[in-house]
Amino acid sequence: TFNFCAGPAMLPVAVMQQAQQEFINWQQHGCSVMEMSHRSKPFIRVAAEAEQDLRDLLDIPANYKVLFMHGGGRGQFSAVPLNLLKPGQSADYIISGAWSKSAVEEAVKYGNIAPQDIRQKSPGGIRTVVAPNDWQLTQGAAYVHCCPNETVDGVEFTALPDTNSPIVADLSSTILSRPIDVSRYGMIYAGAQKNIGPSGLTLAIVREDLLPAKDARIPSVLDYRLAAENDSMFNTPPTFAWYLAGLVFKWLKQQGSVTAMATRNQAKAGLLYDYIDKSDFYSNDVDKQYRSWMNVPFFLGDERLNDMFVDQAEAHGLLALKGHRMVGGMRASIYNAMPIEGVQTLVSFMQEFERVHG
Ligand code: PLP
Repeated sequence: TFNFCAGPAMLPVAVMQQAQQEFINWQQHGCSVMEMSHRSKPFIRVAAEAEQDLRDLLDIPANYKVLFMHGGGRGQFSAVPLNLLKPGQSADYIISGAWSKSAVEEAVKYGNIAPQDIRQKSPGGIRTVVAPNDWQLTQGAAYVHCCPNETVDGVEFTALPDTNSPIVADLSSTILSRPIDVSRYGMIYAGAQKNIGPSGLTLAIVREDLLPAKDARIPSVLDYRLAAENDSMFNTPPTFAWYLAGLVFKWLKQQGSVTAMATRNQAKAGLLYDYIDKSDFYSNDVDKQYRSWMNVPFFLGDERLNDMFVDQAEAHGLLALKGHRMVGGMRASIYNAMPIEGVQTLVSFMQEFERVHG
């Protein structure tokens, strides 16, 4: 089967096989890695190696802390303003889709937020966004929050605006899909359940000068300084998810790192979008320059066939293609772990479905 779920998403088969092999008796320790103290030497080695591998993959500069936290993307929707917004300051929030809108709804609970909706629709019904350099940013904003890949909307932008304020990015659904220049960001966060590993683990990559003051009134489990000072072990971390993320990082290195993933991801997305664009039966309504490499929403010519499409796809081993309820239609999430064969199989299935029902 090929699993197109937006998250929790499929993991690399090789990683799942390795985890299965060492599940009960991990490295001959007589127990599973998930039954082992996070403070034990073997686990600390796993944790440190995972951090180093991630640093290598994303070329993370030394003045950034890498934190392995709980709470998912939504946990970071609160953690970001709690850590980065001091009394009297305000932050710019760019709305490019459903998730950045949710980030605003959480952040307004904690401080002064200036939201800016950059979503636009052309007269022809094409969904697009305002280019990053045309965003109206506030001088002196504590930070600019954005979501470069909108998982629900299928909208992705890669350019960042020129600004003196730190850029805070929710990269939950695009991290590790291509190289990025970490030094362009003040902070990056990502829930693990798409391109990293199982849900329950959340990555936060924070420039050191942005760590909050020692006496800040932040819930301890969301406090970046506490997490950094305790090597992400202030409380018990999601150890199994951390271990599995470590296996994924090693797999990524074996594949040729994020540069190789970028080539592969571009080819996968290209194959699917090309077919959709050529077809008279399927459509995607996102401006071509902002189409996501990771999440591809598409619609059938006849919406009444949606359920049949999903059922027949599943019978062909193509799982979780039903679109998000806010967008409708279908959505194929094609993260790093999805091989090109998965997309080829999907396109063949779509062709056959179109031939019969188009
Ligand atoms: N941000 C983005 C871009 C997401 O795709 C998601 C979940 O799909 C979230 C945030 C929320 O993540 P979580 O469910 O881990 O809180």
